[in-house]
Amino acid sequence: MTLQDLGWNDAFAAAFAPFEKSGWLPARLIRDNKITYGALLHDGEQLEVVMSGKVYHDAETDADLPAVGDWVALDVGSENVIRARLPRQTCLSRKLPGKSTEEQVIAANVDVVVIVTDAGADLNLRRMERFFGIIGRSGAKPVVLVNKSDLFPAAQNEAAAESIRALHPDADVHVTCAEKGRSLQVLKRYLKRGISVTLLGSSGVGKSSIINRLFGDDYQWTDEVNEATGKGRHTTTARELMILPGGGILIDNPGVREVHMWTDEATLRAQFTDLEDLAAQCKYHDCKHRSDTGCAIRAAMSAGTLNAERFAAFQKLDEEIEKLRRNRKKRQMTIERRSKRDQRTEARHTDDRWDPEHDETPHNHRRR
Ligand code: GDP
Ligand code: ZN
Repeated sequence: MTLQDLGWNDAFAAAFAPFEKSGWLPARLIRDNKITYGALLHDGEQLEVVMSGKVYHDAETDADLPAVGDWVALDVGSENVIRARLPRQTCLSRKLPGKSTEEQVIAANVDVVVIVTDAGADLNLRRMERFFGIIGRSGAKPVVLVNKSDLFPAAQNEAAAESIRALHPDADVHVTCAEKGRSLQVLKRYLKRGISVTLLGSSGVGKSSIINRLFGDDYQWTDEVNEATGKGRHTTTARELMILPGGGILIDNPGVREVHMWTDEATLRAQFTDLEDLAAQCKYHDCKHRSDTGCAIRAAMSAGTLNAERFAAFQKLDEEIEKLRRNRKKRQMTIERRSKRDQRTEARHTDDRWDPEHDETPHNHRRR
């Protein structure tokens, strides 16, 4: 393995040059354990690393902290310490609603984002627009797979692909069937040596099937951590960045898997901006729009300017969003449990040898 296999290029090399004389090594972050990170070195060696107090304190926002996909300057020793994060070439992130300045990084230095959908129930052009928005902001190239082509007539698959192309002329849109491996040959075009790829899309559209195909039969996919046993379905180490056998780098982490959820929430809300505007005019801000006095929504329904069916759909929206939130919370709790477990293991391993009086560098505190 070489640095190039991991995505290294001339621009990263130039950014790294000032650190070379310190004897630090370039490494790519492949896993985020909240307290520690997994890092991959040029020779394929994996290390558990921590960021220096300086990297932590110099970060003005969470988005400045190292993330999966980042290249860092690593001080390899008894503690493997991240001394610096190299500037990102792309950055897939979520802007938290309401707090426009807060940004949550999902993955750094992703070159190609593959959106997976199908020509049936999953196809939602509003959501697709949002995916394109996120990808556009990241700087990565968008590719769309209209998957499960075996389930729909060819004309329907083509119509779906056309409607997506119409949204974004620069996106490559392909019709695929993950069940038939050959149909995924088209991905070879993007999965070149050193190119980092990630897959977005609702659950059930075929992302894992596609990934399994790309890795071949002997690849063991780590799914959600099992709630009962705390173990992954197949393997115990969940790597979030992996080198594909034929070249190319796959990034897949919990953040990536959540993109469809918050995209869906935003998409759902966007369909009802008129009702949200009305609700804002209710006398009480926590108006339930039932018997409350001064309810602008009930007034609009009596006046005949608002259709009751549409209002019912709006109420259902809150339930749906609540459901999305519950799923997200469950996922978050699983991640936190896992990181607590890692933290305990970490404490057992480092408590007796890490003395803050004498070494202020490793940053072992839970990140913000
Ligand atoms: P993910 O949630 O996006 O990772 O989706 P999965 O890869 O787990 O796929 C969900 C289901 O759809 C599985 O039962 C797959 O076997 C099935 N599936 C995936 N791709 C295809 C396809 O191209 N055609 C058909 N008919 N089924 C597919
Ligand atoms: Zn009201």
